[in-house]
Amino acid sequence: MANSSKRTVLVVEDNDINREMLSIILEDDYNVIQAENGKVGLDILNEYGDKISLVLLDINMPVMNGYEMMAEVQKNPSLSHVPIIVTTSNEGVDEEIKCLEQGASDFVTKPYNAEVVLRRVESMIHLREASSMVSVLEHDMLTGVLNREFFFWNAEKIVDNNTGKEYDIVCTDVVNFRSINEHYGNATGDVLLKCIGRCIADMIDEDELAGRLNGDVFAMLIKHRSLEEHKEVLRKLNETVNSYDVPKNVIKSGICRVKPLDTKDGKIDLSIICDRARRALSSVKDKYDEDCAEFDERVQKDIEFEQFVLDHMEKALEDEEFKVYYQPKHRLSDGKPGGAEALVRWINPERGFMNPGMFIPLFEKSRFISKLDMYMYEHVCRDIRRWIDSGIPAVPVSVNASRHDFSQPDFVKKLTALADKYNVSHELIHIEVTESAYTDNAGAIDECINKLHENGFKVELDDFGTGYSNLGSLNDLHFDVMKLDMSLVRKMGTDPDKNILDFIIELADMLHMTTVAEGAEHETEVKNLRNKGCDYIQGYYYSKPLPEEDFEKYLVEKS
Ligand code: C2E
Ligand code: CA
Ligand code: CA
Repeated sequence: MANSSKRTVLVVEDNDINREMLSIILEDDYNVIQAENGKVGLDILNEYGDKISLVLLDINMPVMNGYEMMAEVQKNPSLSHVPIIVTTSNEGVDEEIKCLEQGASDFVTKPYNAEVVLRRVESMIHLREASSMVSVLEHDMLTGVLNREFFFWNAEKIVDNNTGKEYDIVCTDVVNFRSINEHYGNATGDVLLKCIGRCIADMIDEDELAGRLNGDVFAMLIKHRSLEEHKEVLRKLNETVNSYDVPKNVIKSGICRVKPLDTKDGKIDLSIICDRARRALSSVKDKYDEDCAEFDERVQKDIEFEQFVLDHMEKALEDEEFKVYYQPKHRLSDGKPGGAEALVRWINPERGFMNPGMFIPLFEKSRFISKLDMYMYEHVCRDIRRWIDSGIPAVPVSVNASRHDFSQPDFVKKLTALADKYNVSHELIHIEVTESAYTDNAGAIDECINKLHENGFKVELDDFGTGYSNLGSLNDLHFDVMKLDMSLVRKMGTDPDKNILDFIIELADMLHMTTVAEGAEHETEVKNLRNKGCDYIQGYYYSKPLPEEDFEKYLVEKS
């Protein structure tokens, strides 16, 4: 194009004199391209696209008239925003209305008044550019998809205007995006987000929408389809994103169907639907073999349960609804009980008996876990005191510590105070730290472990062998006990290659750590573990976790 600083106007007119006239009027201020009919005009528009700021269009032309050309332009979303001013010879109001309906923005009448033509062209271009500035604001600066506000705004408009059609909201999230940022740097994280934004935008249809809600969370409004079809789309998205030069990543998604019922004051509220899609998403976040879930009754139940837990946990603690169960640890040398692990159960008047798997993760999330753990320490100390006082052969009890316990500055002090309050010798209290907590927060935990040792408590490394194993941490820290995770014990049963467990037990031996195998259920497992030199077993083979009264009897009988 001739002068790149000037904007370009396309003049489409079959009459040579009129076309030339318009060109002369515009030439000083604009680059002018001429076309002698709608067909030629359309070809030029297709070729130059966005570089054309405005079209001046005659209606009556051979080959393709002005209406036909406007209809074609409207069909093409990459051209439909180019303003069109129709040149008329005062054909009347009906004609003008028809032109406006076809997408014309304004009119100029023949014979041309240079001043009027220039003014109209200028103001129309100005208007268009200002509104495309707004469109920049509508978009997320980083990824180019709609930002949160405009995603909701536009999506609600689409849903409201298409009552017959069914839509789904899909929310996506990159697994461990924080780690990607930390490991590769924020700039690389941004490249990944841009790439996802682009792939998502390419993936959706014209009448669908994509937006970025925040961080690595994208949302899409797409026409309703089956879960299987969604899965296929997500699989392709993962494949496409990972085909670019970005850190390897997994995108997961949650889906919620937009139902007319989900309205607020008669208007659809898509942020509610989005929340549900995100709930569905979090239900597969920790599942390595599932990438996609739909919001359904199960997810709804999970939400209600979570709310129940949050609403009732404080009161439950006050009312002593949490019960300490004890699971014996048996010495393999003589088969007698040599310890126990304290495991919590929640017995609630409304919900009945609840296993810790149901509520501990929620307590962890809300950090209530530290309160519960303190409660457990106190109850365990109280129980041990009672056993001693009633002549029951007391054994050391290990209590689980959450990662959050270690961020309390006076954790060890509080624990010491509790043991002393009940006059319980410190070596009867063991603290179990899971390996995953350790990898998370090594500094604070190191310090706590040292303090625990200084105060005479024993520390056990829980769930060893669950995949987080960091042999380095074993060397740096002194754990007194290594608890071999149940999965290792299970593997031993099927795996002819017995080296892993042999190696771990040997390693523990070298580091002067006692070994406790968790989850042995069968005699063959117990025999195998004894042969390998494991010290203790905690598993259903001996006993399930028992309520305190039953455990007292158990100690008396089995010791
Ligand atoms: P964990 O610390 O690994 O506890 C061992 C789990 O394995 C217990 O499940 C126990 O009942 C189960 N188990 C023991 N032997 C066998 C067996 O032979 N077969 C099978 N299938 N399972 C066996 P439980 O009591 O449901 O506890 C689950 C988890 O909840 C615990 O895993 C622990 O991480 C957490 N937890 C329990 N109580 C507390 C607590 O008071 N505080 C904290 N922070 N976490 C707790
Ligand atoms: Ca444990
Ligand atoms: Ca364990």
